[in-house]
Amino acid sequence: MTDQITKICVIGAGTMGAGIAAQVANAGLPVLLLDIVPKEGDRSAIAKGAVARMLKTEPAAFMSKSAAKLVETGNIDDDLAKVAECDWVIEAIIERLDLKQALYAKLEALVRPGTAVSSNTSTIPLAHLIEGRGAEFRRNFLITHFFNPPRYMRLLEVVSGPETAPDLTARISDFADRALGKSIVVCKDTPGFIANRIGTFWIQSGLNAAFDLGLTVEEADAIVGKPMGVPKTGIFGLVDLVGIDLMPHLKASLTSTLAPNDPYHAIAIDHPLITKMIAEGYTGRKGKGGFYRLNRVGGKRKEAIDLATGEYRAQAKPPKLPGDLAAVLALPGKQGAYAWAVLGATLAYAASLAGEIADSVLAIDDAMKLGYNWKWGPFELIDKLGADKVAARLAADGQPVPAILGMAGAEGFYRTDGGKRQYRSLDGAWHDVVRPDGVLLLSDIKLASKPLLKNGSAALWDVGDGVVALEFTSKMNAFDADIMGLIQKAIPLVAAQYKALVIYNEGGNFSAGANLGLALFAVNIAAWGEIDKLIAGGQQTFKALKYAPFPVVAAPFGIALGGGCEVCLHADAIQAHAETYIGLVECGVGLIPGWGGCGEMLHRWQSAPGMPKGPMPATAKVFEMVSTAQVSRSGAQAREMGVMRAGDGVTMNRDRLLADAKSRALALVDGYQPPEAPTFRPAGAGGKAALALAVDGFRKLGMATPYDEVVAAQLAEVLCGGEADMTDTLSEEDMLALERKAFLQLTRDPRTIARIEHMLTTGKPLRN
Ligand code: NAD
Repeated sequence: MTDQITKICVIGAGTMGAGIAAQVANAGLPVLLLDIVPKEGDRSAIAKGAVARMLKTEPAAFMSKSAAKLVETGNIDDDLAKVAECDWVIEAIIERLDLKQALYAKLEALVRPGTAVSSNTSTIPLAHLIEGRGAEFRRNFLITHFFNPPRYMRLLEVVSGPETAPDLTARISDFADRALGKSIVVCKDTPGFIANRIGTFWIQSGLNAAFDLGLTVEEADAIVGKPMGVPKTGIFGLVDLVGIDLMPHLKASLTSTLAPNDPYHAIAIDHPLITKMIAEGYTGRKGKGGFYRLNRVGGKRKEAIDLATGEYRAQAKPPKLPGDLAAVLALPGKQGAYAWAVLGATLAYAASLAGEIADSVLAIDDAMKLGYNWKWGPFELIDKLGADKVAARLAADGQPVPAILGMAGAEGFYRTDGGKRQYRSLDGAWHDVVRPDGVLLLSDIKLASKPLLKNGSAALWDVGDGVVALEFTSKMNAFDADIMGLIQKAIPLVAAQYKALVIYNEGGNFSAGANLGLALFAVNIAAWGEIDKLIAGGQQTFKALKYAPFPVVAAPFGIALGGGCEVCLHADAIQAHAETYIGLVECGVGLIPGWGGCGEMLHRWQSAPGMPKGPMPATAKVFEMVSTAQVSRSGAQAREMGVMRAGDGVTMNRDRLLADAKSRALALVDGYQPPEAPTFRPAGAGGKAALALAVDGFRKLGMATPYDEVVAAQLAEVLCGGEADMTDTLSEEDMLALERKAFLQLTRDPRTIARIEHMLTTGKPLRN
């Protein structure tokens, strides 16, 4: 294998192959996507159709339109020889051993020596796949099992055979980690690997127990959901989502490959209701409905199926349950019985498989967290309950107790020792959890140190090498006075004792923006002075950050809206995760960006390379983006929107974001000079007139509401420089003053208040 992977071929342009090819393109690499020749028409129609489909799928497979251009399409009859140009060939054709083997026989003759070939098989053992192949092919062959959808699911299960070259596995894993953003879990070559082996058992246990105990689907999903740290779809909702018809296939493949004494056989039963649902097209969300459905006949009604009668009925509210898992397991009656039936069986199964499917409990926990979105892996769940207690309850039920539970005893599988997270290997010894090179997690740093500063909404951490991290900790990481206060305190501290600052956290999202609840409170009591202070204070804080005598790097990920975007705009550089949804969305709640966002965005576009001369093009661009509350759907799109500049970077793997942001900050330290204050050339009255005309057109087309027009006019007022005309030059302070004025005016309008209230109560914008 060549050292560097510069081109990849994906064979099979179905659900998985197409998604994997898109992710390779998202990483910026050219990718060749091949499928079979259809009976008639364009010989590459299947691969071409897959690309067209992916440009439309939701959630999007491509991170940007330009990524799609990196996919070259073809067919296996005419184009297979092109695999000689590729460093890695990923096979993702249908799950049939004979077809996969036939394809490998052809590939063996065509690939360059050292080219990696991997299969995306879900169930076929590696040993069978390489039957009949020569030594060189076997050395370069492995299984890389992606999860659906490949862009969003972080897990990549990697299986190598006894003959696979270890350095090949290492290089493919490293590439998949850094370039494709996947978290690698090493699995043994056993049916279903880790996640689907345990996941299928868990789903089947959940279905069986709900029928046996007579639970409703709502009850079952509520019990499995939040208390067990599982997405709120629970089990029935999950099966609806992935397709009820997939279940018999999973079952058939596992029952045909698992050893006869595997406990899965005893639970793999058919439920007549489910068989009937599949036969009649009730296959879940993609079909006529599933365990849940939205009945559109005579208005929209949420319904759920009655497991006893098979009839749909109105969906019931989920039962109120204790938040604590142990308390849910101790509930009297069928609810507690259900919780234990599902969890006890699944944890016992996972524990019994530890050495067979993986080398460590860590791998199993990671696989379930990354592949099934569980908050805690099976062994972390066991620790929450106490391994000794789980063992005792299994024994009391007369069930076999996996030996590993006895080994873990009251101490469990994980502990923190000397500031380090440790796990127990299968022989009982404790080991540090070791992160791959270039992975730095704030959660690890927190185990070993105390914050430099901390209040109710933010904290400051020493992340090593002279760099500190500013962490938001408020609800949804929304901005409030405490965050601003901590930034103000942090600046002199960093200036005196450190080299650079990164803005980073490990919450669910980077920041949802300003705390609207607080803003609404101030508006409702007509505390205009408070609002003015809030705006002016925020502006001053962000400016202080911008002109601080040290480099500041923002590391957004997930949602970064409004103030969450503005704080990034004031950093010297942005290192964004590939999944960053960033934008100035204030207009949606009847406001405009008020913490310097207008000027920063305008300055970015005015100084963008290749912008046409004159103030209007940049003004129009920013106006369009902000007035429509545009949000990027990836880091790549944040770049297209001008939020990110040439020197900014995108990190594909979430776990590498802090380390990447830190290196970017350190690279700016030598000879650091704070940025020069920008000046602005206003588009003036002519600009305002042109923008007003455009909005008027949108309103006539029904694309803008009457109040959108009012908000847009205030935005235009700021972006066009207020009363200034095209011969004037405005300073940053002038722009900030315009922002404050427009913002305050809008907060006094009851229609803005209505928008904020609506957003706070429904989470959706009000189109008044
Ligand atoms: P799919 O049916 O959506 O797509 C398979 C594609 O392979 C089709 O486009 C088909 O035309 C093509 N094909 C069939 N024979 C071929 C051949 N000889 N040469 C080239 N192309 C050929 O299937 P999928 O769901 O994408 O699954 C593909 C593989 O990935 C399977 O091995 C499956 O087990 C595995 N997998 C699937 C999922 C999932 O959730 N769907 C998840 C992980 C792994």
